[in-house]
Amino acid sequence: MQEPSSPAGAQPHSAYERIAQAIREHRDELIGLARQLHRDPEVSFQEERAAEQVSRLVEAAGYRVDRPVPELPTAVRGTLCGASEVSPEAIVAVLAEYDALKGLGHGCGHNLMAMAGVGAAIGLAAIRDLYGGEVRFLGTPAEERGAGKQVMIEHGLFDGVDAAVLFHPADTNSVGGPALALEELTVTFRGAPAHASASPWAGRNALDAMIQLFTSIGLWRQQLTPDSRVHGVIDYGGDAPNIIPERADATFMLRSADDAQFAIMQRRFRAIADSAAAAHDCGVEITSMGYSLTMKNNGILGERFREHISDYGILLQETKGSAGSTDMGNVSHKVPSIHPYLAICENGTPAHTVEFRDAAATERAHEVALTAAVSLARTAYDVMVYPRLRAESWKEFSRASLRAKNLRMPW
Ligand SMILES: [Zn+2]
Ligand SMILES: [Zn+2]
Repeated sequence: MQEPSSPAGAQPHSAYERIAQAIREHRDELIGLARQLHRDPEVSFQEERAAEQVSRLVEAAGYRVDRPVPELPTAVRGTLCGASEVSPEAIVAVLAEYDALKGLGHGCGHNLMAMAGVGAAIGLAAIRDLYGGEVRFLGTPAEERGAGKQVMIEHGLFDGVDAAVLFHPADTNSVGGPALALEELTVTFRGAPAHASASPWAGRNALDAMIQLFTSIGLWRQQLTPDSRVHGVIDYGGDAPNIIPERADATFMLRSADDAQFAIMQRRFRAIADSAAAAHDCGVEITSMGYSLTMKNNGILGERFREHISDYGILLQETKGSAGSTDMGNVSHKVPSIHPYLAICENGTPAHTVEFRDAAATERAHEVALTAAVSLARTAYDVMVYPRLRAESWKEFSRASLRAKNLRMPW
C-alpha cells in the first residue's frame, strides 16, 4: 500500500501484520463476546451486561476504562496512550455499539459491532510502541433509540478526536450510505374525561386529537419529498370505550435525506400537532427523544478502509442510498468518520428482521467482524501516524460541512 508519508522508524506492513496477529490471538474471546451479546440482548439505555463485558475485555488489553456520562451509564470510555514519539497529538476514536431491538434481539447485528470495536482496540493496543497520541475506545449505547452518541458528543467525548471509525453489518459491502436525518418525538394530548354516553359534551377528547394528527400526517405525506419519512405508533389511547379519553400518547419518527428539508419538517410537525390540539380543545406536549443527522462518510478515510479490507478479498461498492438513520451521523458532523457496511448474509436480507438477527450469530458473521476489526485498526493506525492523512481527511470534512450549515434544530 502507498502511504501518504512515512513516520520515522515505523514499518507499516509489520504494524498491519501485528494488528492482525493480536486480533487472531483473541479470536475466541471476541467471538465469545458476539455470541454472548446475541444470546442476551439488551435494548437501548439498558445495555448493562454488554457494557460490563466490553469494559472487561478492553481493560484487559491495557486501556484505562471509565463510564464518563452520568445520564448514559452504559457508555464506556477506554483510554490508551501510545509509547512512541510519533504524532503525540493524534487521537483516534474506535467505536462499538451493543444495543438490541425490543422484541427482536440483535436484528441489527450490533453484537458484531461490539466485537469488531473491541477487536480493533485490542489490535491497536498490541502496537502501542509504534505511535504516540491516544486511542480512545468508545462503547456507544442507545443507537436504536435515543441517539446516545449525541449525548456523548455533548459530554466532550469527541473533542480533539482526529477520526472516528465504526463498521455496521449488512447484506452488501459498501463504503456507507448517506443515512437519513432523524428525530424521535413523543406526543401527548390532554383533554378532559366524561361519560361517553351520558354526557360526552362535557369531555375533551384527547384520542380525537391524536387521530386528527395521524390523519393530517397522512395528507401531509402527499407534499413530502420521496426521501422524507414520518411514521408513528399510538402508545396509549384511553382505558374504556365508555369514557372519553382524557389522554393520548404516541411516538413518531421524522426523517429526511436533506438537512434543510428536515428542519422544515420538524417545524411543520409541531404546527400540525398544535392545530390538532386546538381543534379538539386539548393541550399538547411534544418531547424530543433525540436526533440523528445525515451521515457524512469521509471519503479519504473510507478509501483507506477500502484498501485494507480489500486485502481480505472484500470489495466495497460505492455509496448507495439508504432509508436508515444512525447517530454515527452526528459524530460524522463533528469529526471525520467512517461507517462502512459489510455483508454477513445473502443480498436481500434487510436488517431489523428475524433472518438478519439469525445471520448475526453465524460463523460467516464472526469472520466478517474479525476482518472488520483488523481493517478498522489498520485505518486507525494510519490516522495515528500519518499527519498528511489527518490533514486530508479534515480538508474533505470541511468541504462536506458547507451543505450541512442549513441544518437548524428547533431547540
Ligand atoms: Zn438498527
Ligand atoms: Zn444498526
